[in-house]
Amino acid sequence: MSMTSSRTQKVVVVTGAGIGIGRATAKAFGALDYRVIVTDVLQAEGEMVAAQIREAGGQAEFYPLDVRDTNACNGLVATVEKKYGAIDSVIANAGIAHRVPLDELTDEKWDLTMDIDLKGVFRIIRAALPGMKQRKSGSIVAVSSIMGVAYGWDEHAHYSAAKAGVVGLVRGLAVELGRHGIRVNGLAPGFIRTAQALSEQHSKGEAGLQAVSASIPLGRVGEPEDMADVITFMVSDKARYLTGQTILVDGGLAIQSH
Ligand code: NAP
Repeated sequence: MSMTSSRTQKVVVVTGAGIGIGRATAKAFGALDYRVIVTDVLQAEGEMVAAQIREAGGQAEFYPLDVRDTNACNGLVATVEKKYGAIDSVIANAGIAHRVPLDELTDEKWDLTMDIDLKGVFRIIRAALPGMKQRKSGSIVAVSSIMGVAYGWDEHAHYSAAKAGVVGLVRGLAVELGRHGIRVNGLAPGFIRTAQALSEQHSKGEAGLQAVSASIPLGRVGEPEDMADVITFMVSDKARYLTGQTILVDGGLAIQSH
């Protein structure tokens, strides 16, 4: 494919796209005719997502990417820009949520969460910015959490801190980059049915998700596709005047009175 024809198709990079919210988001972009750069530390899962997008008639490729690795983030962006001319959008989704009570929260455990959930967001965005600035165009979404914008989460203070950090990063970058034609927004998911939330060890587990459903005004926990549709909206031209906002998408959980 020539460079000219490839630029008729927008290119999106999604981190942590092998499973969960990232996978649903990658597939949603595939259906919207984006070229989807599926990245994850999970190789088999990521390759399967890219294959499924292609089978559905879309364009996708998998690249292994650990967002803790600055050179790998820079290298991925360079590879994709060389191959396809530009990156139009970055979805900084990769994240972990490990349960660690404060008295067991070593520097290493704190740093691991910060390194993935906050610095990993910064790393992939930083890599993509020179190209976006040059073209005066770009749309970025970083994934925060209800635990970063509205709730505290016991034994996950490090996670809440990292996810609150994402909100600040989104605001700061939106102000810095607006004049360059780049929009930066955040998504704060509520309780979403993914491996992360289904973990009995680190999160709610199946029974916990069922229990919390009763207190969600829309009557159910979220599905990854519920997040993907908001992310694709935020990236799209429909949201052309939206920047610096982290949108809480939680089925109404946080706004009800008790
Ligand atoms: P998930 O199903 O666990 O998917 C996250 C993906 O990111 C996994 O493939 C994971 O691989 C990958 N990942 C972990 N560390 C990575 C690294 N260093 N570099 C690249 N990829 C890495 O979780 P999810 O629920 O879809 O979460 C997606 C995002 O939404 C996360 O930022 C999460 O914190 C946020 N979120 C989720 C919920 C929820 O209820 N599910 C709520 C609020 C916010 P491994 O499986 O090997 O770790």
